[in-house]
Amino acid sequence: MTARILVVDDVPANVKLLEARLVAEYFDVLTAGDGRAALAICENRPVDLVLLDIMMPDMDGFEVCERLKANSRTAHIPVVMVTALDQPSDRVRGLKAGADDFLTKPVNDLQLMSRVKSLVRLKNVSDELRLRAQTAHTMGLRELAHADRPDEPGNVLLVDGRASSQERLQRALKPIAEVAVISDPQAALFEAAENSFDLVIVNANFDDYDPLRLCSQLRSLERTRFIPILLVTEQGSEEMIVRALELGVTDYIMRPIDPNELVARSLTQIRRKHCNDQLRASVQHTIELAITDDLTGLHNRRYLDSHLKLLIDRASARGRPLSICITDIDRFKLVNDTYGHDAGDEVLREFAKRVRATVRGADLACRFGGEEFVIVMPDTTPEMATIVAERLRLMVEGRGFGISQGDTVLSVTASLGIATLRPGDDTPEALLKRADMALYQAKSNGRNRVVAAAA
Ligand code: GH3
Ligand code: MG
Ligand code: MG
Repeated sequence: MTARILVVDDVPANVKLLEARLVAEYFDVLTAGDGRAALAICENRPVDLVLLDIMMPDMDGFEVCERLKANSRTAHIPVVMVTALDQPSDRVRGLKAGADDFLTKPVNDLQLMSRVKSLVRLKNVSDELRLRAQTAHTMGLRELAHADRPDEPGNVLLVDGRASSQERLQRALKPIAEVAVISDPQAALFEAAENSFDLVIVNANFDDYDPLRLCSQLRSLERTRFIPILLVTEQGSEEMIVRALELGVTDYIMRPIDPNELVARSLTQIRRKHCNDQLRASVQHTIELAITDDLTGLHNRRYLDSHLKLLIDRASARGRPLSICITDIDRFKLVNDTYGHDAGDEVLREFAKRVRATVRGADLACRFGGEEFVIVMPDTTPEMATIVAERLRLMVEGRGFGISQGDTVLSVTASLGIATLRPGDDTPEALLKRADMALYQAKSNGRNRVVAAAA
């Protein structure tokens, strides 16, 4: 993981120490000796994370953090407060100032690396989301343009063997999450698989159960492997923590638990989960946009071109029939010429609706271009395809097409051509060509009819 980290401390020795450790892990490190210099760097250069000392002359860490978070150009940079005073009140102030995490001096290597890596990962994902939201915004796609949504409450599963700590942790998390509590770690696995949690907190306090077993099972199940895990451990259980992080546990916290620290760490993980979910949804959405026709919501020609080949190969390999139908609206130009282009669009949308209502789930319906549509029907003989095409023809002819202009209802008809896969080396182009010739035949025979190409 390469990321640029800004270390801010007024004591040069502290800066050197952190810098050396981070450089050893191949991070790119910038340094600043006071708050003003830190703000200037963040404003002018891309920074992925700030390690911020609290006690500094002139401007202290709280103020630096507040200013970073108040500036829209720097608000998204994660800030880790590095505090010499292990005071809960400092942490509360840090959180209020917008800090994402805390580290206590002297900084422990394990903590430093696990926290830095966790926050850098989170930032990578949210950067990608912000980028996509920007593109979506430029392209006028409203649904995608909301990457900077306020925090939604998280769903947390707390796995904890003891009633007393269950209650304490639940109370601490109340302001930021809905918490489901479970004592039995094996039951927890099923609970996690069956619901959609944003975070699983595993308190390592079971009498005779290895909590890492649950963590590793959570990482291996398809349904749970993307859920962040926060492990709660004893002081001094470094060995367990190292193994846990290797297993894919996302973060850890040591007892006695500072409620503020628990909240800060949980929030980071919940945000990360929400960001990841959004990112996945946006990828899905992008794919859908790329293969969908805007006007009708049917698949577009690009999708047909790539998918028809697969369907043909599969039918050939299994020795199954496959038929396609091309349909073209009759005298459609007249609709546009008489009622305008918008009315024409309305007719196309309604036509697509009727196509969709005619076909089975396994059929592929596409807008091929203008007022031409293609239906690919796997496992369908020419006789069956003719019945389907005839049904569609009747659905178009049988009921008028309403347009919003006045109370006009238009009579619309369509011509349809059918072709069936020839065993052997038939190609999508050849199949489409035969269907198109059949369609041409239907047009020249007087329109509003179905013609099947000779096999
Ligand atoms: P035929 O019965 O021979 O098919 O006659 P036609 O008028 O339907 O055929 P032609 O190919 O001459 O005209 C098709 C028309 O479809 C011309 C074009 O302006 C219109 N068209 C193509 N795409 C769209 C669209 O997205 N919206 C609208 N409203 N019209 C479109
Ligand atoms: Mg036409
Ligand atoms: Mg046409």
